[in-house]
Amino acid sequence: MKCKLCENNNLSTIYTVPNVPIFQNKVYATVSEAQNIMTGNVTLVMCSNCGFIFNADFDRNAMNYDAQYQNEQAHSLYFKKYLLELIDLFTEKKFHEMRIIEIGCGKGYFLEMLRKNGFDVTGFDPAYEGDSPYIVRDYYSEKYLHLNADLIVLRHTLEHIDAPLKFLRGIAHAVSSGAQIFIEVPSFEWILEKRAFWDIFYEHCNYFTFESIASLFQESEQGLLFNNQYMYLLADLSDLREQAAPANATLTNFEVSKMLELLRFCREFVQSHSGMLVWGAGAKGVTFASLTDPNRNYISSLVDINPEKQGRYIAKTGHSVISPAQLADFEGGDILVMNDNYYQEIQKQIKGRRFNLYTLGAIQ
Ligand SMILES: [Zn+2]
Repeated sequence: MKCKLCENNNLSTIYTVPNVPIFQNKVYATVSEAQNIMTGNVTLVMCSNCGFIFNADFDRNAMNYDAQYQNEQAHSLYFKKYLLELIDLFTEKKFHEMRIIEIGCGKGYFLEMLRKNGFDVTGFDPAYEGDSPYIVRDYYSEKYLHLNADLIVLRHTLEHIDAPLKFLRGIAHAVSSGAQIFIEVPSFEWILEKRAFWDIFYEHCNYFTFESIASLFQESEQGLLFNNQYMYLLADLSDLREQAAPANATLTNFEVSKMLELLRFCREFVQSHSGMLVWGAGAKGVTFASLTDPNRNYISSLVDINPEKQGRYIAKTGHSVISPAQLADFEGGDILVMNDNYYQEIQKQIKGRRFNLYTLGAIQ
């Protein structure tokens, strides 16, 4: 196997987890349906030349983003606030003077926010099911060159794509000269710093570092977002390289072993807090439950504010998802919050009730 960005053969395996659900974000109507879903292996390899990290066992043919796929973080106030900050960044960068195309716009939540704030944006998503006149239910291609985009926005998409450089080259061929691209992806440095094993899952086949993503372009501007959890890159599409340039690949096994150590601590925590709840049934919560309580012995349920997940069951383990309102059925207990960024929001929701709230940071 060769590196998908620079074709170098020198790849080393840095992290493996067998049999994870293909889709962490899907929820199921029954426990048995949830338990019988397709699984795949996560085998992260790192390229010694450009530092790119990807899942060598990823099979894109297994992926099917259908209507059961629930990945709308916009239900959270904290996340809405983040999107507003992103709009401020877009304003600061003078993107309102540009014709924007958002590729992989999902349900169009961010696109609608951009439009409300005066941006000229058209979205593309083959899985789109709504009726917005500003979203095209298709893949973006040369067919749409006449839209004359000045800026391509690619948020949380590139980490899902099997051949990321080929995909970017396709976009570069389908825009007029002078077009720029704004890419937003999770930061692998943040995952290592937080030892966030729950942020490594099958749907994300690519893991970028600040340097490995920059190695794709001759020149770019970069920054960190969402408390360093995400990063962005802004570049001219004509600066996209044919192959990624050599970059820093000094990630050590030590950092990965620290992450595995935290997984062990988390298993111990879950076992000693039997009956506990996990707040957040997104990819993080599902990966956490799957790795710490695969046989559903300790975690009673996952709590999620997304109504489309409530009353259903998470992939593989079959833990149930309940609403915050259903916490009234509990006399009290332990709740582990999957994302520190939402801690205060959750604290408000359980105010005056007999719950102990824990963050992952408290598990050492
Ligand atoms: Zn490489």
